[in-house]
Amino acid sequence: MGKTVGIDLGTTNSVVAVMENGEPVVISTAEGTRTLPSVVGFKKDGERLVGVTAKRQAVVNPENTVSSIKRFMGHKFSEVVAEASRVSYKVKEDKKGNVVAVIPAADKEFTPEEISAMILQKLKSDAEGYLGTLVDQAVITVPAYFNDSQRKATKDAGEIAGLKVLRIINEPTAAALAYGLDKKANETILVFDLGGGTFDVSILDVGDGVFEVKSTAGDSHLGGDDFDAKIVEWLAKEFKKDQGVDLKADKQALQRLREAGEKAKIELSSQVSTEINLPFITMTDGQPAHLVMTLTRAKFEELCADLLARVKVPVQTALEDAKLKNSDLHEVIMVGGSSRMPMVQELVKALTDKEPNKSVNPDEVVAVGAAIQAGILGGEVKDILLLDVTPLSLGVETQGGIFDKIVERNMTIPTKKSRTYTTAVDNQPEVEIHILQGERPLAKDNKSIGRFHLGGIPPAPARVPQVEVTFDIDANGILQVSAQDKATGNQQKITITGSGNLDRTEIDRMMQEAEMNAESDKKAQEMLEVKNEADKLAYGVEKFLRDNTDKVPEADKTNIEDKVRALREAVASDDHERIQTATRELETDFHKITEEVYKQTTPTENTAEPQAEGEKVGAGVGAAANEDVIDAEFKEEK
Ligand code: AMP
Repeated sequence: MGKTVGIDLGTTNSVVAVMENGEPVVISTAEGTRTLPSVVGFKKDGERLVGVTAKRQAVVNPENTVSSIKRFMGHKFSEVVAEASRVSYKVKEDKKGNVVAVIPAADKEFTPEEISAMILQKLKSDAEGYLGTLVDQAVITVPAYFNDSQRKATKDAGEIAGLKVLRIINEPTAAALAYGLDKKANETILVFDLGGGTFDVSILDVGDGVFEVKSTAGDSHLGGDDFDAKIVEWLAKEFKKDQGVDLKADKQALQRLREAGEKAKIELSSQVSTEINLPFITMTDGQPAHLVMTLTRAKFEELCADLLARVKVPVQTALEDAKLKNSDLHEVIMVGGSSRMPMVQELVKALTDKEPNKSVNPDEVVAVGAAIQAGILGGEVKDILLLDVTPLSLGVETQGGIFDKIVERNMTIPTKKSRTYTTAVDNQPEVEIHILQGERPLAKDNKSIGRFHLGGIPPAPARVPQVEVTFDIDANGILQVSAQDKATGNQQKITITGSGNLDRTEIDRMMQEAEMNAESDKKAQEMLEVKNEADKLAYGVEKFLRDNTDKVPEADKTNIEDKVRALREAVASDDHERIQTATRELETDFHKITEEVYKQTTPTENTAEPQAEGEKVGAGVGAAANEDVIDAEFKEEK
């Protein structure tokens, strides 16, 4: 068996580290750098370049050079259209709606998993060169805010690269491991991780070998690339104003603008002004034109005001979710290359009232943490307990389109949770388990991440069958769902695989919308609940009338049937007041009848029994007989 390495597979740069003699060591690339640009280039002669060599030829070969592939991992094409328009290579939708990169030089299309695998392969071979031994296992990090599909895609990329992925670990958690490995005293820390394309905030309790994540929040579509894009936009606009040429229309010029944008951004972290100088950027009136512009830090910060506003939200959410105040935090650890920007550091200081802690190397700390996790799994690092969380709530769709959460966000993983559901109509032969991820109360507002059917349910009245649904999230944050019919023991299972999970923007939009729409969501949910209750009552009353047809006088029966009809009409009208009134009226008259029926069937001297019986009938009307074990109904199968 070969060696296990820790890998930070970043949007812009990737890093590999390993435990050597009990210490984590960052492995340099064959070219001698400690970070590997996450760039893959394809030359016309079929040669493939990865890392710094690929980055170097990007300007002259933009359509065959793939960068920022992490932004597409685990996504459907429809989720990343804006992103696709920003890269120098062609990205399109395949037959299944997934993303592929089209590479003319190779005359081929590649999935994001394949491109990521090429980066992983290079890290693997550089590590093998350094260690002089086979490397066949890895711990790979992902942003904490990566969803199930993105995690699965990352794991698949590892497998494609020939690495057995022992664990997928969250980037801020890895950073905390590296930071806190030697800490004896207990500390509550906030890890602020702003990388090239993703942003995570995690709050952890750290100390004496225990790393417990309290909350995590983020934005999987926010990173250094977005800050570069602001400079590119500004340069292109100013140049057009001056020279009347749209540089963005020329792929080579655009690639040069991008590189100059990133360089200027980095310089502005240590200087207050920088000159951007791009000679021969284009031709105007047959003459070469040059771009020479000065960008001040103040102007750059003004251009990025909207990005900074987005940085604030997850910090506040993570604190609220962990139920902590600024004063409860001991340290704020800055991770990711983009955390070096002065405006970001000032914002973090203002948000947390803490001087940001820059004691860790923001480019390497995540890979170091991954190597430590590899050491824990291999038994080399002992007495460490790592308790991570799931970033988003998971559940199923139930009757009335309600999202019923089974696992709440920020739940410690691994975790296993079960709930029991039932059928909505008589003789329902199968139920659909529709799995969703998100924070909104209605199913339609959350992200659908998979569905399957459980069939073979024996004929039974509605609300009698019991289907136990189990959500099992492993230590990688990957979900497996199973459903079992308790009567027959029939079971179905799925692991959520492939693309199509939540996209970063979508997640953030969902969270923000969840807050903004809290009021209207609450109303919609109340309406669904009132309708569900009304349906249950109508169904129960009809059943009671059928079962006791000889005990209810004809006139009462007609009255009750009229009231049931009125209730059904009220439900169809979507009028909250009307449904409630019709429900009350039916209940009042129906209770009188049930009392009468029980008087007929129960000996009068025993006063305790009729009450007990009455409760039982009530249960039969309002809910299933086995109410204590049933949490909700599945929606009716069509
Ligand atoms: P990471 O994913 O952590 O490697 O972060 C890469 C991102 O950090 C890229 O967008 C870099 O441009 C950015 N970056 C690296 N160093 C600096 C710096 N000194 N100032 C601003 N951004 C930086």
